[in-house]
Amino acid sequence: MSELALINWLRKRIRLPASVEVGPGDDAAVLAPAPGSRLVVTADAFLEGAHFPAGTPPERIGHKAIAASVSDIAAMGCYPLASFVTLGLDRSRGEAFVRALGESLIAAAEKYRAPIAGGDITSWTAPLAISVTVVGETRGLRPVLRSGARPGDRLFVTGSLGGSLLGRHLDAPPRIEEGLFINRELAAHAMIDISDGLSTDLNHIAEESRVGAIVREVLIPVSAAARQLAEQDRRPPLAHALDDGEDFELLFTRRLPADWPFDVPVTEIGEITAKDVLLEHIDGSREPLPPRGYEHTWRAYNK
Ligand SMILES: [Mg+2]
Repeated sequence: MSELALINWLRKRIRLPASVEVGPGDDAAVLAPAPGSRLVVTADAFLEGAHFPAGTPPERIGHKAIAASVSDIAAMGCYPLASFVTLGLDRSRGEAFVRALGESLIAAAEKYRAPIAGGDITSWTAPLAISVTVVGETRGLRPVLRSGARPGDRLFVTGSLGGSLLGRHLDAPPRIEEGLFINRELAAHAMIDISDGLSTDLNHIAEESRVGAIVREVLIPVSAAARQLAEQDRRPPLAHALDDGEDFELLFTRRLPADWPFDVPVTEIGEITAKDVLLEHIDGSREPLPPRGYEHTWRAYNK
């Protein structure tokens, strides 16, 4: 199947909402955001060997590329609008692989309300490379930045953390509704999605907001996967929860309402302070919490 035939085959599978006036097939897409909306745009690369191991089923690769990208719109507390996907396809892949990858990208994009409005497919001789751009819109909301945290803010995280390498990094849903709620109902001061690990992403908030933070070890929601991975590699479950990353949960500051209307739990793990990012142990002692995320993930993929 030629690249053009493949593009046409995939195009027929895309269902577009009214907010995408012109989708794939013309020189450029035409989007119709809600009147007065500002656009919120994120771009990410997904490379075989870096973001997913060789041998990962195409369905899960497609899901991850879209979900991880939409997660960045969720972390701004904004609405997904459309996505743009470019594939660098390894020529040695069979047609079944390519179709399954295309269908999973389309399905995930539709599910997460960022239908594919354009992109490109090219064959080459290197491993699979995917570029995803997601456009979101504000619809009257103020985007929640990393830079708004203030001393005295309470610090929260959704879900549980660590061990995503065991599978969650491919399957985790973006927290779209939760991000919108955190923005709209809680007027969060700062928010980020946990892609590089709690230790690194909290340091991002601290740096951008010019504040510090205290995280209480006893409060950190350590996932079952973190404990499972700890048994395999003998790093403590807590280290996995702090540093693994790709949990795609939301880390945010300010306050929590009496009523949290989602299935995924939310946990208070500490607070924002004037300076220094610290981890408080169960005995009350404190030590610096440096950004140690991501590198572990990278090494684990490339063992
Ligand atoms: Mg992010």
